[in-house]
Amino acid sequence: MRVALLPEVTAFLKRQHGHFIDGQPREGTGAERIEVINPSDDQPIATVATATSSDIEAAVASSLSAFNSSWRHTLPAQRAEVLYRLADLLEQHREALAQLETLQSGKLISLARNFEITTAAAFLRHYAGAATRITGETITPSIPSFGEERYTAFTRREPLGVVVGIVPWNFSIMIAVWKFASALATGCTAIIKSSEFTPLTMLRIAEIALDAGVPAGVLNVINGKGEAGSALISHQDVAKVSFTGSVPTGIAVGTQALQSRLTRFTLELGGKNAAGFLPDCPIEKIIDGIFESGFINQGQICAAAERFYVPQPLLDDVLTGIKQRLEQMQPGDPLDEQADYGPVANRAHLEKLNAAFAKARQEGDQVITGGHVLDRPGCYVAPTIIRAHSPNASLLHEETFGPVGTFIGYDTEQQLVEAMNAGPYGLSASLWTNNLSKALQLIPQINAGTLWVNMHTLLDPAVPFGGIKSSGMGREFGDEFINDYTELKSVLVRY
Ligand code: NAD
Repeated sequence: MRVALLPEVTAFLKRQHGHFIDGQPREGTGAERIEVINPSDDQPIATVATATSSDIEAAVASSLSAFNSSWRHTLPAQRAEVLYRLADLLEQHREALAQLETLQSGKLISLARNFEITTAAAFLRHYAGAATRITGETITPSIPSFGEERYTAFTRREPLGVVVGIVPWNFSIMIAVWKFASALATGCTAIIKSSEFTPLTMLRIAEIALDAGVPAGVLNVINGKGEAGSALISHQDVAKVSFTGSVPTGIAVGTQALQSRLTRFTLELGGKNAAGFLPDCPIEKIIDGIFESGFINQGQICAAAERFYVPQPLLDDVLTGIKQRLEQMQPGDPLDEQADYGPVANRAHLEKLNAAFAKARQEGDQVITGGHVLDRPGCYVAPTIIRAHSPNASLLHEETFGPVGTFIGYDTEQQLVEAMNAGPYGLSASLWTNNLSKALQLIPQINAGTLWVNMHTLLDPAVPFGGIKSSGMGREFGDEFINDYTELKSVLVRY
């Protein structure tokens, strides 16, 4: 049954949305607006303003003022307390936020409630704890003493300043939390530029953050397309940009940040993640693994696997098994709790997937199941399994970011390693085997920022996350993120 929208959600959708600046919703100073479309039926649910240069100016001025006048001076434990309170409040607003997220992104309501909100709260609590773990080191210099003087030295981690977080549409809450919680924990202030496809949730979260005690200006939200992100990056008072999105946009963001004034940047980008199954894996385990690796949230997870390497003798049985599993899925309205498969997030994305199917057929790949748009209203794409015609097949190298698994068999372990490492990306990968020694031998040989063994896709706030090769620069989570949101100051003292 379709979940009934909460009255507060209906009321929120009716509002005239713009930005959130200096503790207040702002309608925005421009006339241009973006329609927010529900991808399950292609119907508009709200509109949101596009930032003008004066909106950008107001947001950056507010963030800079909040940074200098208060937030950078707060005690770490105070910052932690605010983030803990925000985590509690997110959970209290779980249903309303989940409904908004499902309406704007097509994510299943169960995933929005039980994964996105739960995980966002867990990340907030992790970053809250990290606020009190920001440390430097003491060093004894070897400067010679000609009299009685002595020397000591220590390092301090100091907040960068105003951080711009630019986020994609697949997890509009969780990924924004990665950015602004990192900033707030380290004493920076944050401006989030939401995706133009999913701008609503962050506007609501900024209001909730104010209730949690985040002071005005410490967390601002700007809406608009790429131009708004670009204008923020080039602003002279922005100290850092933390970007999550596609590789081409990431390269443009990094280039612009460097050219602006060596503005610091972190890039969490896409990839073409591989899952490799070793010959000892039972077929059932392989099929469960493929499902977990590639098809949650219609495959729209940056770390999800899109390339699957299976021992040649097992490939036919694996393809038959995963085809059966995927064909049992019930597509439906993502607000319907019975649906176990929703739309992709927007029509532009659906068209991109359709083009990838056409290219695969043209190249001679074999479509085992799916490979088409579903015949119903909304942005539904059939879960798709493709057998690549050769290791050079485009679908083994180009990110689809959708419910599309591409398969090829392998004969030797060396072939598996070479195939998994092929291509320019290295966000994540997984190895599946019950042979622990074999897994430990292979781990150092696989090039990826995150490597799972007998699991895929699940992230934990305590475990650093980021891409190698063309999948990114810098790390989020753990305590690693602290280095990317602070500058290291060295202090030498003569006494
Ligand atoms: P995208 O690169 O098109 O857009 C991401 C964000 O950048 C949006 O907010 C967009 O408005 C903004 N943007 C676009 N052009 C810009 C510019 N020139 N300057 C500044 N900002 C600009 O990505 P998307 O389609 O929203 O998201 C899908 C992509 O994100 C996939 O490639 C996926 O792999 C990647 N992703 C990566 C991670 C990760 O953690 N590594 C997580 C989620 C998604």
